[in-house]
Amino acid sequence: MTANGRSGGWVLARRGGAVGLERRGARAAGAGEVAVRVAFAGICRTDVRAADGELGVAEGRVLGHELGGTIAAVGAGVRGLAVGQTVSVDPRLACGRCVGCAAEEGCWRPEFLGVDRDGAFAEVLVVPASAIVAVPAGLDLRLAAYVEPVAATLAIVEAGLPQAGVGVVVGRGRIAELALLVLHAHGFSRASLVDPAALVETRGGLDFAIEAEASAALIDAVVARLRPRGTLVVKSRALGRIPIDVGAVIAKELRVVGACYGSFAAAAALLASGRVDVRPLLGRARPLVEYAEALAEARAGEGQKLFFAMEG
Ligand SMILES: [Zn+2]
Ligand SMILES: [Zn+2]
Repeated sequence: MTANGRSGGWVLARRGGAVGLERRGARAAGAGEVAVRVAFAGICRTDVRAADGELGVAEGRVLGHELGGTIAAVGAGVRGLAVGQTVSVDPRLACGRCVGCAAEEGCWRPEFLGVDRDGAFAEVLVVPASAIVAVPAGLDLRLAAYVEPVAATLAIVEAGLPQAGVGVVVGRGRIAELALLVLHAHGFSRASLVDPAALVETRGGLDFAIEAEASAALIDAVVARLRPRGTLVVKSRALGRIPIDVGAVIAKELRVVGACYGSFAAAAALLASGRVDVRPLLGRARPLVEYAEALAEARAGEGQKLFFAMEG
């Protein structure tokens, strides 16, 4: 299983209605691109949905979008990145053609790694240099693979919530737990975790609520429990549409904020600082050949983040 700094080697791809291992030919890092030797790749709900066909992907698509690894090769014109450097990747790959790209304010319709483009369940991955997230040298590469979920959670911190307010994260499992850890690390000391089934009326109402597993019933319950001018942060990505009582939102003058990603650099720094102890949230790493067991375990529950370990 050697790939010598070229994209390819063994990958986990979806083809013919199922996922399976494939051997891919090599592709060198082109101008402006970087080849990353993947050490660990996290398994996310998105990957399970793509593997199961709930989320449509092109035939032969390599799945996976959370990774930690080292730079194996840099293409022409790439500055500030060196072979051997420890990195993670921002899975939103800029299209290079839209208004946002032209204005350098961030792509308006990025293509997502492992969904729109071949992803991280691979020995070596070639991505545009702009997607590379440098992580502090010496950071555990499993933590480097966890930068993406932490960056996704930092979007909550960047949603303009009142730091001294009373708030809840509504959900079960590691995404809700991570959201609470990150909020506490940023001084939101009156935030707590609530099981959706146990959401009760609080005196004075909630200043903010973050949904970590959206359903119509949960959104209704949260809207009812927020105080006037409170904030609802929508965080989980349900596949279907979820109704919201806009009349209640207007009557209470609620703020509804979508939270997708915060800063990847801040996420890497937060993990390196030790200010959040995410280790209880990190689960087993299996070799890629055990993909069936790994996906079955990921499907069974969202207790801990599972990984593929690409080497050894
Ligand atoms: Zn993810
Ligand atoms: Zn763009």
